[in-house]
Amino acid sequence: MDQHAQNDSTAWAEGYLPGPVLLLGAPGVGKGTQAKILMQQFHIPQISTGDLLRDHRKRHTELGLLADELMQRGELVPDDLVNRMVAERLASFDCQPGFILDGYPRTLVQADWMDKTLASGELNAGGKLPLVAISILVNHDALLKRITGRRISATGRIYNIYTNPPRVAGVDDIDGSALTQRSDDTETAFEQRMREFHAKTAAVIDHYRARGRFFEVDGSASVEHVTAAIREAIFTLRQQPVALAGSL
Ligand code: AMP
Repeated sequence: MDQHAQNDSTAWAEGYLPGPVLLLGAPGVGKGTQAKILMQQFHIPQISTGDLLRDHRKRHTELGLLADELMQRGELVPDDLVNRMVAERLASFDCQPGFILDGYPRTLVQADWMDKTLASGELNAGGKLPLVAISILVNHDALLKRITGRRISATGRIYNIYTNPPRVAGVDDIDGSALTQRSDDTETAFEQRMREFHAKTAAVIDHYRARGRFFEVDGSASVEHVTAAIREAIFTLRQQPVALAGSL
């Protein structure tokens, strides 16, 4: 197929199989925003471990109660609990053509589990395609502004009081619902989340960089530019022969 035709989102909608895609990066780089856009373009689910954990908290499950304090402080939830939660989600039928993981893996233990699980084929998730990893980069000061300015609508629409404010303060433009702030979007929790990122998640990014099928994207550009760069990266990485990129 002609490269431009296949790279066009309409062509993608008509049967392009993206397989497993990892979106990696520090808190606030835009993983969630981009994952939601790509989910609609590819027709594959976004799996955000942060969202799954917040849902557990809301439902007061055992995992939710355990995760609550850790999340509030900006610390990571134990690997075995997160891996089990991801395994359950990946076993769903909708993950077969592919999925976008947002905020996972965040430690080398999680990355190792993910690599082995996909290689074993036991979940049949993501078809049989190897995963591609995209790392999004944004500088620390911009991240702080994004995180502390972030406000979220009841349906998950994301605003920023500094850079993308709603028309009426505190109210969603579309459905009028009240905007809320995540309890870990404070400066103190952000700094702890950044410490966790540098101590544990930076090594995960190095792991996938070394393995190939990896691309780094400048996340400080506009949302549309970042989406275009990620799409281009996925398309290009998918063309690489498995042997070149290291095998799963
Ligand atoms: P996020 O919504 O991705 O920013 O995640 C919010 C919080 O959920 C993190 O600060 C962690 O406490 C927890 N969390 C999310 N994903 C993971 C993960 N893969 N491993 C451990 N903890 C996680």
